[in-house]
Amino acid sequence: MKTELVQLIRILNERGWSPATSTNYSFVDEQQQIWVSRSGVNKANFTEQDFMTIDENGVGTALFHGTKPSDETQIHLWIYRNFPHTKVILHSHSKYPVLVAQFNEHFLPIQGYELQKGFKGCTSHLDNLQIPIVDNTQDMSELCQVLDARKNEVQQHCFIIEGHGTYAWGETLFEAQKHLETLDYLCECEFLR
Ligand SMILES: [Zn+2]
Repeated sequence: MKTELVQLIRILNERGWSPATSTNYSFVDEQQQIWVSRSGVNKANFTEQDFMTIDENGVGTALFHGTKPSDETQIHLWIYRNFPHTKVILHSHSKYPVLVAQFNEHFLPIQGYELQKGFKGCTSHLDNLQIPIVDNTQDMSELCQVLDARKNEVQQHCFIIEGHGTYAWGETLFEAQKHLETLDYLCECEFLR
């Protein structure tokens, strides 16, 4: 998993989805240990050594005690707590989700796209989907409280943070990537429309 995720992080960086050392990524290994990307790493040069282990409070464990994890680690922990089958979480600072959130409040409505079937559980382009858009804040506990209140609205294994980017996850790396790319494609279509 670690090697494959490193490759994907570099690919996403080449797309311009993680400029200026931004974004963060995590996965759960076979021992149920959570690994998260360290803070402030240029994603173009990201390596396996740039992951660190954390406990359930987001504090670095073992060799990584005292190492600073990503600022948004609390969001990862929120996702793992609320969607316990999750094994991989991806974050993007791509432009279209940011742009589309300027024209939609609370939700991005999606209907009529073949590609919306990229979300696990969606079987028809006719399904009415609503992707939650949450307000951005630097206060991670506040953001997690908002997510708590809107948990039932999180149906497509992803959400948008206004002016910021997207989070998407899955039970495998393949699935998480599919959800992230599906959401980005739909944001691009909706913005260009
Ligand atoms: Zn971010």
